[in-house]
Amino acid sequence: MPNPLPYKRVLLKMSGEVLMGDQEFGLDPVTVQRVASDIKDVRDTGIEVCVVVGAGNIFRGVSGAANGMDRTTADYMGMLGIAINALALQNALEQLGVPTRVQSALRMDAICEPYIRRKAMRHMEKGRVVIFSAGTGNPYFTSDTTAALRASEMDCDALFKATKVDGVYSADPKKDKNAERFGTISYMDVLTKDLKVMDATAISLARENNVPIVVFSILEDGNFKNVMAGEAACTVVSD
Ligand code: UDP
Repeated sequence: MPNPLPYKRVLLKMSGEVLMGDQEFGLDPVTVQRVASDIKDVRDTGIEVCVVVGAGNIFRGVSGAANGMDRTTADYMGMLGIAINALALQNALEQLGVPTRVQSALRMDAICEPYIRRKAMRHMEKGRVVIFSAGTGNPYFTSDTTAALRASEMDCDALFKATKVDGVYSADPKKDKNAERFGTISYMDVLTKDLKVMDATAISLARENNVPIVVFSILEDGNFKNVMAGEAACTVVSD
């Protein structure tokens, strides 16, 4: 199908928090299915899509470390949490008939492929959605940094950061009525104003590699595609 949108290949970053819906922990099957359907809509336009998921809905390394665990071990547990989310999303996409491959930064040969850049590119060229699992495979990193890294490696036109708000605000819109949403903002402003878009490592990596970050809300059905078509609110972080 011809691609009517101004993107050839994009990366979607979804935190574990998004996947847990209104629950306090774990995966909300309805939300996972809805998000999968949003991904399908975009992929069906002919755009190549890859996905990075987090694991805040299951386990975060820093929380484990705060409770006295060895940080490195806790981070590996976080990466295993990412694998759970990746498989859940793969299952939801396949139930919608979308061919999907999970590639993991940590070897898990019985359940998914290892991360191989050229193979991932080839999958996308063939219309398969690629889900990158287990983060970067290294402790002390985040899924956001993984997203900036993989988007750079995959030559993505943009990194779409799915959140529960429709962009980046000057202050917390839930606490401050005067908070304003930025239409566009520079990487430097995000860093110097310490706006909580993504961690500083992720922002710096995206900046160095000229990957624009589109922050949008995934709470509304079809928003991933709508935001690409310029039909939904978002904030674009670029130079
Ligand atoms: N993690 C890691 N290295 C990576 C990516 C993630 O160690 O390259 C671990 C880390 O413990 C992190 C957890 O996996 O807390 C889940 O990722 P993150 O907190 O970024 O998830 P999100 O906030 O996106 O749900």
